Amino acid sequence: MANTDLYEYPQELREEFEATEAIQFRDGSQATAADVWHYMTEVAPKKYPYAYTQRKYVDGRMSRDIHLPSAIKHNYLLLTMNDRINKSRENGSPVIFVQGGQSVDPYYAAGGIALRPASVGMWSRGRHEGLGLNEEVVRRHKQKEKAYHAISFEACQTAGYETIQEGGLPVDMVAPFTCLRCSDISYGVEAHRHGPNKTLKLMNIDYPMRHQADKQWAVEYFVQNLRRLTSQIGKIAGREVTDDDLSKEIRLHNEGRRLAIDIAELWWSADVPPTNGLDRRHILQMGGMEIHGDPSASLTILRESKAYISERVKNGIKAEGVVDKPVRLFICGSCVRPNDFRIEEAGAIIVGNDNHWSDICTLVKEDGDPYRNLAHAILSYPYEQSVELRAAWTIEQLKKSGADGVLFLYQWGCNTQSAVARMLCDAIKRDTGIPTMIIEQHEGGSEQSEQLLNRINAFIEMI
Ligand code: SF4
Repeated sequence: MANTDLYEYPQELREEFEATEAIQFRDGSQATAADVWHYMTEVAPKKYPYAYTQRKYVDGRMSRDIHLPSAIKHNYLLLTMNDRINKSRENGSPVIFVQGGQSVDPYYAAGGIALRPASVGMWSRGRHEGLGLNEEVVRRHKQKEKAYHAISFEACQTAGYETIQEGGLPVDMVAPFTCLRCSDISYGVEAHRHGPNKTLKLMNIDYPMRHQADKQWAVEYFVQNLRRLTSQIGKIAGREVTDDDLSKEIRLHNEGRRLAIDIAELWWSADVPPTNGLDRRHILQMGGMEIHGDPSASLTILRESKAYISERVKNGIKAEGVVDKPVRLFICGSCVRPNDFRIEEAGAIIVGNDNHWSDICTLVKEDGDPYRNLAHAILSYPYEQSVELRAAWTIEQLKKSGADGVLFLYQWGCNTQSAVARMLCDAIKRDTGIPTMIIEQHEGGSEQSEQLLNRINAFIEMI
């Protein structure tokens, strides 16, 4: 791809951006806003040209809301992922592959870096430099194809098996919660036992089901699992993990969760959307869920984002590219999201999702036994409860977010979500009258099919 096709940040923005906060990293180092600007305008366009595509309908296209510092800083963290994770590993932090919707507090407390499937994908992508958009898409699809052969065509293949087994990534351990939400994780963990990477350590954190947070044995059992987890990671990191380590980590992640809750409420309270859907998601994901492999860095951006969004809400500033009164869509299900640019062009905006929001908005008690508190919080995630309880919580979120419609999306091969979609949508329609639509898609990665987007746009028109 010729470089003339690439997006360039406007130079006139430089001074304004360089006056914003530095990103503080977990190891005590920092990137000033000037460092970020230099990297994003001079280094990254050569290293990762695909990220600067001008094509609107590609997932991963960077936000153009350039007056929102997080829009640039989030991308800086994504594009420096390979360099940062390699450096942290060299400094003794093992990398642990975790599932999408789980708390990362215990992994960091034990000295590890918790990477979700999407984060592992970003790390893998960062190891291939100089690729244009088409080359990057082909590379990714070739890698994904290996997973279809290695695991099963029945698995959804979202979870990144291929990036660990075939992508040359030095992941030290695979240790997800084996809760019901995700069938791909169960396929994947099993497949890792037989994969070519024999040095990989494997562990399941077994997750009891059915009113789990109300059963004492279930909480105690989960505490044992969490202690086993931190002890195993501590052995790889060469350190003993204390209860105090976990307490400190919970406090840090709770700050992120609280900030995310505050930002979501501010966003929902605004007359006009203060950010586009992409920036909204990126900002909220930094709270509690953490996708960049550095919770401290995420926190610095979250704190700054709250101030910016408060200001926009106070002054009635609407994000660029969003219509005045967009159709407000809430996403249920898992691991699929429609292209934000396309949705916004059609006159809608995404105002929330149940999957990640479920763990982001679950605060952990800070006094008392940290393992018990964490176990109780994790077992309380609304998304992991029975369908009736999950529906009641989802309806509450629909009301708070002012949603006009619900899209329940999941990948082909997603066993649990495909099974609960109808029940959940029926409960929502029965109790609120809000229209719902269920769509299954094939793992699409960076390009979504016209078919999916046409159906969603028809739903938007209907509303
Ligand atoms: S789509 Fe379903 S099965 Fe696939 S990774 Fe997501 S939750 Fe798991």
